Amino acid sequence: MLDFIPDNPYILLTPGPLSTSKGVRAALLRDWCTWDADYNETIVQNIRRRLVAIATADTGSYTAVLMQGSGSFAVEACLGTALPKNGRVLILTNGAYGKRIVEMARVLEIAHTEMALSETVAPSTGELQAALDCDPDITHVAIVHCETTTGILNPVEELAGIVKAAGKTLIVDAMSSFGGIPFDIGRLGIDFLASSSNKCIQGVPGFGFVIAKRDALEQCAGNARSLCMDLVGQWREMDKSGKWRYTSPTHVVRAFYQALDELEAEGGVTARHARYEENHRILVDGMRGLGFETLLPDDLQSPIITSFLYPDAKFDFKVFYEAVKAKGFVLYPGKISQADTFRIGNIGEVYPQDMKRLIEAVREVAVTSEK
Ligand SMILES: *Cc1c(COP(=O)(O)O)cnc(C)c1O
Repeated sequence: MLDFIPDNPYILLTPGPLSTSKGVRAALLRDWCTWDADYNETIVQNIRRRLVAIATADTGSYTAVLMQGSGSFAVEACLGTALPKNGRVLILTNGAYGKRIVEMARVLEIAHTEMALSETVAPSTGELQAALDCDPDITHVAIVHCETTTGILNPVEELAGIVKAAGKTLIVDAMSSFGGIPFDIGRLGIDFLASSSNKCIQGVPGFGFVIAKRDALEQCAGNARSLCMDLVGQWREMDKSGKWRYTSPTHVVRAFYQALDELEAEGGVTARHARYEENHRILVDGMRGLGFETLLPDDLQSPIITSFLYPDAKFDFKVFYEAVKAKGFVLYPGKISQADTFRIGNIGEVYPQDMKRLIEAVREVAVTSEK
C-alpha cells in the first residue's frame, strides 16, 4: 500500500534524525489548515494528550507543550521559562548535552552551577546531595537522562529522589530516552521533561516538546527571556484550542501523530524498549565478536546508542564510515575528548535483522581493510 514511498538509500544509526517508517513519511504528503478543528483538535490536542499519557499515569497533573525547532530549542525554552530571575540552576554534566545546557544558561544570563563529571562516569546521589547542601541558593536542577554523547544512562530515578527531597525543581533532558525507556515522570516528581519529534517516538525532525507539571508551569508566567521561546505563552495559546502561537510545522506534526499510532501498534514504550534492547544486544555482541570494544562498561550503557573505541592506531574512521555507508548504514562520529571513538545508534525504524546485516557489513569492511 505504501509502495509509492521510496525506500531509503541507507539506514540512519545516528540519532537523530533517525530512520522513519514509510507510514510516517507518507503522512507528510498533504497540507493542513492550522485554524480548523481537523488539525488543532484532532491532531495537536490529541498528540499533547498522548504525550502526557506516555510520560505518566498521573495525567491530570501534567501538560505537554509543543515548540517549533529542534530538541535544543525545547530545552532552551524550558530553561529560559522555568528559571525565575532570582533562580539558580545546578547542571549535572557528563557530556556535550549537559554542557549545552550550561551554555544556554550562560547566554540567557541564568545563574548556574555546573557539577562537571568525566564523560564515562555517572553522577552519584552522594555528589548531588553534597552539591545541593553546599549551595542553598540552588532552586532548580537540570539532568540529562541518556547522555547521547557517549550513550551513558544517568540514574535519573535515584537523582530525582535527592532533588525532590531537597524541594528543588527538576528539569530533565530526556531527548534520546523518552518513548524508548519506560519511566513515570509523575512518580519521579520531574517538573519539566524535554524531548523532540525525531528521537524514540520516531517522527521526522521539526519540533520539540516539554512535558510539564501544571503547577510548576503556572508559576513561570513572566520568566521567559524570549518571546518566541516562552513556554507559558505557547502553552496558554495551545491549551485553548490546539493552535500554536506562530506557524506550526504542520506536516511534521501530522507525521508525528502517525509515529504515535505506530508506537501504540508496536505495543507502547515497553515493547519499543524491548526492541531497542534486542537491537543493542546484537550490536554489542556482534561488534565485540569482531574485536571492537565499547567505551562504557555494560552497567552504565543505555540501549539507545553505543560508543566504540577505535580498534588500533591505524584505524581510519572516515574510510570505515564511507565503506559501511556504501553498504547501507550511516554511523555517527565520536564526540568525546577523552578517547578516539565512533558511535552506533540503534533506535528508529531499525530491527534486529538490520543490526545483524550491519554486523555482516562491518565484518566485510574490516576484512577488506586488513588486506
Ligand atoms: C538529540 C539531543 C538533544 C537535542 O539535539 P537537537 O540537535 O537540538 O535536536 C538534546 N539532548 C540530548 C541528550 C540529545 O540526544
